[in-house]
Amino acid sequence: MYCESTMPDPIRTIEDVQAGGHALYAICRNAGCRHCKKVDVQRLLHAVPAQARLRPGPNERHFTDSMRCEHCRWRGVYLWVEPAEQKRQILQKSARDERSNYEIKDWGQSHPYTTCVTIGAADNLFVARGAYIAASGFYSDHRITLQQGAFVIGDSKRDGLPEVMTHEDYTRMRAIETGTLSLEELEAIGPTISAKAS
Ligand SMILES: [Zn+2]
Repeated sequence: MYCESTMPDPIRTIEDVQAGGHALYAICRNAGCRHCKKVDVQRLLHAVPAQARLRPGPNERHFTDSMRCEHCRWRGVYLWVEPAEQKRQILQKSARDERSNYEIKDWGQSHPYTTCVTIGAADNLFVARGAYIAASGFYSDHRITLQQGAFVIGDSKRDGLPEVMTHEDYTRMRAIETGTLSLEELEAIGPTISAKAS
């Protein structure tokens, strides 16, 4: 799945350049010029599909054929990708390692639900669950999951819309967590909590 991918992705399309935060340069094909300019990837995406490959195939018309050099006005450039700095990749990696315990993910509207976007994260299960309830209601036509890593705690398509917890429920949860309830109190409310929290 896209979200769990840890392998470095190959840089083949404009989308790959944007997703990886890499830099793209256009070099003039005129041998007497070779002017080099950084490409505004966002702007390029307005003119060219995100899936467009960076290099043309044999006998293939390519968007770089019509890109004009701003220096000599020659039509046609080569593309050069400068991969994001190592330092930046390490920072991104450590950010991933320090991610929250629980994540709320949006898998989109239609089967097979392969587009995954993390829309919420929290270290506390009940805070995460609150965000999951909100997301499931707000995007009721999407598949929303509450996950701890790859483990799916809640799935709005599989389990239906989650039950909303009241302030009283949360107070009870907190009391259990901090151990301020007596055993009798715990036994009395036990079934309610397991039904709601599972
Ligand atoms: Zn030029």
